[in-house]
Amino acid sequence: MNIELIRAAFPIVKETINGQPLVYFDNGATTQKPLRVINAISNYYSHNNANVHRGVHTLSQRATTQLEEARKSVAAFFNAPPSQMVFTSGTTDSINTVALGLAEAHFKAGDEIILSVAEHHSNILPWQHWAQRHNGRLVVLPLDSEQGVDVTVLASKISSKTKLIALTHVSNTLGTITNVEAAVQVAKQHNVPILIDGAQSAPHMAVDLGRLQPDFFVCSAHKMYGPTGTGLLYLSEKWLHELPAPRTGGGTIKTVTFDRTEFADGVLRFEPGTPHIAGIIGFAEALHFMSEVGVEAIAKHEHALLIHTQNQLRALPEVTLYGDHESKAGVISFNVKGAHPFDVGTLLDKYGIAVRTGHHCTQPLMQHFGIQGTVRASFAVYNTLEETNFFIEKLKKVIKMLS
Ligand code: PMP
Repeated sequence: MNIELIRAAFPIVKETINGQPLVYFDNGATTQKPLRVINAISNYYSHNNANVHRGVHTLSQRATTQLEEARKSVAAFFNAPPSQMVFTSGTTDSINTVALGLAEAHFKAGDEIILSVAEHHSNILPWQHWAQRHNGRLVVLPLDSEQGVDVTVLASKISSKTKLIALTHVSNTLGTITNVEAAVQVAKQHNVPILIDGAQSAPHMAVDLGRLQPDFFVCSAHKMYGPTGTGLLYLSEKWLHELPAPRTGGGTIKTVTFDRTEFADGVLRFEPGTPHIAGIIGFAEALHFMSEVGVEAIAKHEHALLIHTQNQLRALPEVTLYGDHESKAGVISFNVKGAHPFDVGTLLDKYGIAVRTGHHCTQPLMQHFGIQGTVRASFAVYNTLEETNFFIEKLKKVIKMLS
């Protein structure tokens, strides 16, 4: 992997912030976009813009072809059929689509949904929303000794009332990786559907849905070098047919009269209205970028940054690490003893270093650790060892300022 070439592909990495070169370590929140993604979006609007699926004219056909080609690209990236890839506005939208659909046809009052203590609010609130209205219960998996989700106790949490397992693949706060292969196996043994929140795994590791075979897999393009406002909902063949589509409208139908509607088959049932065509095209282009660099190469690079930075942080007595483990995605959460994470983040920003501070939309996980928040550094393909060294050097200064 040629890091110079990769950095040259991202216009924003040349930005200066507060007079310093940008060091962007907030990739868990959203990644930067390579020029080819920006160009793919711009090219679509400049040359091919039209509405999809309904037009006979050339531009509409071009736009439709590009959209459906994008679906094939996303499917190929995840090794799954295009016919099972629904475009949504992102992970949150995908989870809500599943939650509303299951609420209509699968959940009954008093049912249970298994989550983990490490879930992002987006994979808690839609289930809690249902549970509170239907006397349901959220059953929470703990962390194991390596601060990953403890899948070994999953089977013991399943009861006759369990109607769904919904787990994060990689914790956005800790970077720890859930053994989703084992979780899917347990789910299948007990005939309970399983949703995998891949918002933080898909950007950082190869995800083979053909092999994993979950019931639902969700992720966001904007965390994978693609645009905001676009994401994926993968449905198993069964749910593609059985999940009620919670939202309807143009594009989802075969025929409509005022008495009844016959809905389209397949993914279009879940894509009412005009989709985010440009975003979807940008999403596919981002995945082409990732594939060309190589997902394994990206994972290896980010892992090297993780180990290097984690080791240096461990040597600082003022720093407390959370999810301190060698085997995880490139996410580091820490606190400086006696300092508020916001202060650490604000002072690092003065040196052009972008980190995230706060609860990272995982307040139950913060409650588990008994803290308000952390400072989070999360890496992407364009980050360098030099940047991590600069970060450590400036963090030491920040620690002095705050002590
Ligand atoms: N789940 C996880 C694990 C996440 O990290 C995020 C984004 N921080 C989400 C869900 C929500 O993603 P989005 O905001 O793109 O819908």
